Amino acid sequence: MISIRSEFVRVKRKIRRCYYAGLSHENKPGGIAVTFDDAFVDEWHALREMLNRYNAKVTFFVSHFNRLGQYSIDKLKALRDDGHEIGFHGLKHLNAVKFMESRPIEQYMNEEILPGIEMMSGHGLPPRNFSYPYGAHSPELDKHLLKHFDYVRGTLLTNVKTRFPDLDSIYYKRGDKRVIYGAGLDNSYRNDIYEIQQGLKRASGKKETLIVYAHEPANKPGDYCTPISKLEEVFRHAQKAELRFCTIQTLGG
Ligand SMILES: [Zn+2]
Repeated sequence: MISIRSEFVRVKRKIRRCYYAGLSHENKPGGIAVTFDDAFVDEWHALREMLNRYNAKVTFFVSHFNRLGQYSIDKLKALRDDGHEIGFHGLKHLNAVKFMESRPIEQYMNEEILPGIEMMSGHGLPPRNFSYPYGAHSPELDKHLLKHFDYVRGTLLTNVKTRFPDLDSIYYKRGDKRVIYGAGLDNSYRNDIYEIQQGLKRASGKKETLIVYAHEPANKPGDYCTPISKLEEVFRHAQKAELRFCTIQTLGG
């Protein structure tokens, strides 16, 4: 026979467990952060309708901001107004590690980073996050750049042994790091949709956020192109898996 008192204690414990589970981050769903690099503003802007259809929020890391005309800047603002993030990808798209082989970091900051932040801010697009051109970075660079950005993003390649679901560093756990990595969607990276789906399953199961990157959304065979149908498949599978679409700024939120 169960005493009233022991039943009372059991129910009380259960209520407490549910309460803390509700507060815990563990309870939040997994997510996906799709990012784009370089300056394919027209091609990115052409994705608007599809992105809105999936209610997908993504991040565009822009390089060569000084070369963009007002028309392109207005397109970036339209993307920003849709809820996407406009990040920074270097003013001249320098390979930071190579640059620093012969020059001090202060010169890199003065040529590549600070004028770009100023220029973007002057046009009402202050960048909060940065992706490294060529994925080239070092602990010293990270330390300096994290004074100006909340997150810096590098790149990781899959290889014969380590495939998409096993590449631990492309899965973000809330609050665990500010140097983050993405894996490529473009043709040259040879990560097919089946494999990406396995990554989405991992993100969903472990409540992590999968970070990926692309360059030019285009149906052509170039190395740094991602077919639009492939992007759509990624959004479709992510939506089906009830993953949260994150920008880099909302990774921790
Ligand atoms: Zn780039």
